Amino acid sequence: MKLILLGAPGAGKGTQAEIIAARLNIPTISTGNILREAIRNGTPIGLQAKQFMDNGMLVPDDVIIGIVRERVAREDCANGYILDGMPRTIPQAQALEAAGIQMDCVISIEIDDAVIEQRMTGRRVCSKCGASYHIVANPPKTEGICNACGGELVIRKDDKPETVRQRLEVFHRETEALKGFYEKLGKLKLVEGNQPIEDATRDIMAALGIKA
Ligand code: ADP
Ligand code: AMP
Repeated sequence: MKLILLGAPGAGKGTQAEIIAARLNIPTISTGNILREAIRNGTPIGLQAKQFMDNGMLVPDDVIIGIVRERVAREDCANGYILDGMPRTIPQAQALEAAGIQMDCVISIEIDDAVIEQRMTGRRVCSKCGASYHIVANPPKTEGICNACGGELVIRKDDKPETVRQRLEVFHRETEALKGFYEKLGKLKLVEGNQPIEDATRDIMAALGIKA
């Protein structure tokens, strides 16, 4: 199963990717998490990406395409994977096609812009593994600590309201067109994102034709 999760920032891509990856026993590839780790480690890619991310802009396509091509070639991707946050532009989607990477399904998690701010102001992410929580909708078992790895939960720098607005604009300008791209390929399925996490998971599994 090769699956893409599309959606605005805060739609729930990371949250759903983690749940579905565990159920299907395939890895999640989150370009955002890979880039944040690169920044923490001070790698050349991290240094290049930081300014774009802090300002709510997209990291250049060639950087992202390089990261993903290398990642999907690893052994743990042999039975499939979930792409979370990639592609975000038409050239990125075309690069996947050009590399012979055929996706089985593209799920667009649909959410209204009005809901996004409350999602982002309550978001906390694990500084070690990148897992995503919400202080009200999906709190960790122990405040400030990741359920999965015990890492410290932090607020993302790009979750401040002005950067979120910029990211939303970028989504509408550059990323939303991917729905048309994948619809033409007959791969697009829409799922309601503005409902409780478990209901969205149920709808994604149904869209994939998998019984929950
Ligand atoms: P994305 O990866 O699309 O940017 P996340 O999965 O990180 O989004 O979710 C953004 C925030 O909203 C997180 O704090 C997450 O816990 C919360 N969240 C995700 N899905 C839902 C949902 N269905 N209802 C309420 N909150 C949600
Ligand atoms: P995310 O964790 O998916 O919300 O991504 C956080 C930030 O990382 C984005 O605002 C971009 O700056 C950068 N980023 C992540 N994925 C991509 C991508 N596929 N293309 C360009 N930039 C990306």
